[in-house]
Amino acid sequence: MKIAQRELRVSTRSRTEMVDVTGQVEAAVREAGVQDGDVIVFCPHTTAGITINENADPDVVHDVLLALDEAVPRSNSRFRHAEGNSDAHTKSSLVGCSEQVLIREGRLVLGTWQAVYFCEFDGPRSRHVIVQVRGE
Ligand code: ZN
Repeated sequence: MKIAQRELRVSTRSRTEMVDVTGQVEAAVREAGVQDGDVIVFCPHTTAGITINENADPDVVHDVLLALDEAVPRSNSRFRHAEGNSDAHTKSSLVGCSEQVLIREGRLVLGTWQAVYFCEFDGPRSRHVIVQVRGE
């Protein structure tokens, strides 16, 4: 069994943003030469996350970010964290910091409308994503 790790770089341009990293994850799988296995996509940041969602209609990404903003407003007089980004920390925990995707015949096993997204909640920033490919 092979195990290969790669680090992806993601530059975000707004405070909140979802960046489709599916192509970069697929490239990491190709480079690893794994035909059957899985890949873990991990975000090592506390104000960002990883999720899988629709890539067909860009309004979906807009609406997900809007719904998260409404669920967790940026300002809350009862927040204590002095950095002022407790909304971003909370969204990071809601979305989660990793996804696992299966690999079959060298390709990611995703639904027709699914993409892997890096979720920025406290940008713009330069970010890293760690990808671990495992299999044969
Ligand atoms: Zn903070």
